[in-house]
Amino acid sequence: MNAPTIIPHWFDGQAHVRADAALQDVFNPSTGEVSRRVQLATLDDVNAAVSSASCAWPAWAEMPPIRRARILNRFLALLNDHKDELAAIITREHGKVFSDAQGEVMRGIDIVEFACGIPQLLKGDFTDQVSTGIDNWTMRQPLGVVAGVTPFNFPCMVPCWMFPVAIACGNTFVLKPSERDPSASIFMAELFKEAGLPDGVFNVVQGDREAVDALLSHPDVKAVSFVGSTPIAHSLYQRGAQMGKRVQALGGAKNHMVVMPDADMDLAVDALIGSAYGSAGERCMAISVAVLVGDVADRIMPRLVARTKALKIMDGMSADAEMGPIVTRQALERIEAYVGLGVQEGASLLVDGRGLKVPGHEKGFFTGGSLFDHVTPEMRIYKEEIFGPVLCCVRVPDFVQAVTLVNRHEFGNGVACFTSDGQVAREFSRQIEVGMVGINVPIPVPMAWHGFGGWKRSLFGDMHAYGEEGVRFYTRQKSIMQRWASSIPESERKGPEFVMPTAK
Ligand code: NAD
Repeated sequence: MNAPTIIPHWFDGQAHVRADAALQDVFNPSTGEVSRRVQLATLDDVNAAVSSASCAWPAWAEMPPIRRARILNRFLALLNDHKDELAAIITREHGKVFSDAQGEVMRGIDIVEFACGIPQLLKGDFTDQVSTGIDNWTMRQPLGVVAGVTPFNFPCMVPCWMFPVAIACGNTFVLKPSERDPSASIFMAELFKEAGLPDGVFNVVQGDREAVDALLSHPDVKAVSFVGSTPIAHSLYQRGAQMGKRVQALGGAKNHMVVMPDADMDLAVDALIGSAYGSAGERCMAISVAVLVGDVADRIMPRLVARTKALKIMDGMSADAEMGPIVTRQALERIEAYVGLGVQEGASLLVDGRGLKVPGHEKGFFTGGSLFDHVTPEMRIYKEEIFGPVLCCVRVPDFVQAVTLVNRHEFGNGVACFTSDGQVAREFSRQIEVGMVGINVPIPVPMAWHGFGGWKRSLFGDMHAYGEEGVRFYTRQKSIMQRWASSIPESERKGPEFVMPTAK
């Protein structure tokens, strides 16, 4: 058997493999086999990538935005040409089903399309005549070298939340993707080069904590975007701020879906099944808690049980697959341990997905969908992010208690309310302390021009990812006030002025 391919770093417009690099196995979760190995960057590798980005920055920042946008347009076309190849790479390393990987790639492409409109987004404000003969305007300029650190669960889409916008704004970028599914990043780097991106504008360092620490402490890295689990997001936010960097750090989630008694129950059941078990629950916007109001639980629980048991779980490349494997054996063990914990805590385990074996894929990292009823807020399976195909149902008597429950949770990424009452929907949207809200929409991931971000311990920092917030994050505002000597009449030249200037 051939030795697995080594996944390189990418800087100076080319792949880099170091003979003595430390390597980590990358698995095909469906077979449990090592498919590739990824290099783990040292300080020297990170310094080389940042230096490549620093050298490329002045010319890239100087290039007119419309010319930058044209390169992005070519990248967009190439992404569209190769989107299925990219989706297959994702399925092979992440495990999610191919059609879901295609959806992820499309949501990444959306952001590239948005970034192609950068000339309009970078337009400044101008005020003529703020005082006699004086004009004042603001403009936004790029920061320099910026970095992105991304999680395993969206190896294309989440990096695309960051680098297309950052690069369109005139920054150069160093991406540190997840070491669990790193190949998509190199595929995108190759396409970007083919699109005509100058060397050094987009760079990739593979690795783990050591690479992230090196990026965080590098003086030339002006801003860091992070997406991952909350403890790491929080610590990275604090360390980055101490270093004087701009940081946006998106963290974990426990997304609730409130089902009111007047909801369309067919729609609600479909939504719960799809959003709890899609991508094996490894989505930051997955629904992991169903909040069933009044008699809803009695009405839909038998249907949830039947549908959870009937999930088609298989290799993600199978056309019939609804759910694929878990990303790693370690993650699988963590998820199944949570199911055991839920039983110990006294929740009713109605469907037990543990120990699933998929014929022909006995060594794959599979678990089935698990479904708990009678979960209560003090249980750890309610409080903590499981990040797997485990749906916890909590019963509450009314709308007020449903809202109170959601608002007391430490996370505030996404939430949904299923109802047919407009006033309930309106009050829910206004009162709920969560960053992204769906009304009869279970996974309300905002479109490219709206920006993505949670509240509370789901996001540290002020700015959401992508959209206009992304443009603001990757640029800094400059205000310019200008007058010309010829516009000042002789009668007004009175020598030095010692009072605060006001409009004249
Ligand atoms: P993770 O926190 O383990 O890793 C995220 C990134 O941080 C990876 O690139 C990893 O290499 C790096 N990293 C790991 N340990 C580190 C350390 N000690 N110091 C610095 N960097 C470190 O997350 P994951 O398991 O890859 O992804 C799943 C998590 O991401 C879940 O918690 C999920 O909710 C969250 N997530 C959140 C969003 C969001 O938008 N809020 C989106 C996707 C995923």
